[in-house]
Amino acid sequence: MAERLVLFLFKQNKEKIKDFSENLAKLKELRYCERCFNISEENLCEICNNKQREDDAICVVEDPLDIISIERTGIYKGLYHVLGGSMEAGEEKNDLKIPELLERLKKEGIKEIIIATNPTTEGDMTSLYLKRKLQNFKIKITRLGRGLSTGGDIEYADELTLSSALTNREKLN
Ligand SMILES: [Zn+2]
Repeated sequence: MAERLVLFLFKQNKEKIKDFSENLAKLKELRYCERCFNISEENLCEICNNKQREDDAICVVEDPLDIISIERTGIYKGLYHVLGGSMEAGEEKNDLKIPELLERLKKEGIKEIIIATNPTTEGDMTSLYLKRKLQNFKIKITRLGRGLSTGGDIEYADELTLSSALTNREKLN
């Protein structure tokens, strides 16, 4: 596998190889943001560090790649929280970053949680579970609207669909 990759890279132009090796070197520096668990080069990610972001909304996603897709729409200006996966059938997964999310709600002045789990069975279950966990907080809970294809993945949703799902998010409480 590694040999094939090296061979493939060898055939690319020099500029591409330079780009790739620079990105590869950065990989060592990457870590999880200590607040939202996005991928980050510092203790806090670019989004958490950005004072221009609206700090009263958290969009909850399964995976850091979902953040990239949502950011591409340019519609959402708030913060994020990465769960690190979704619930599996009949199981309470305890490695999801849900306790950390609840901690943030106690400390930060959050007014809205947007649940942006994938439109899959697991994503739906995670959303229901979150809704239950969040009901004691006085915050608005919304979920990305219909239109995202069922069984799909937010990471692969096109910008237009994702934009409309964000704009038409449904209130859950
Ligand atoms: Zn962050």
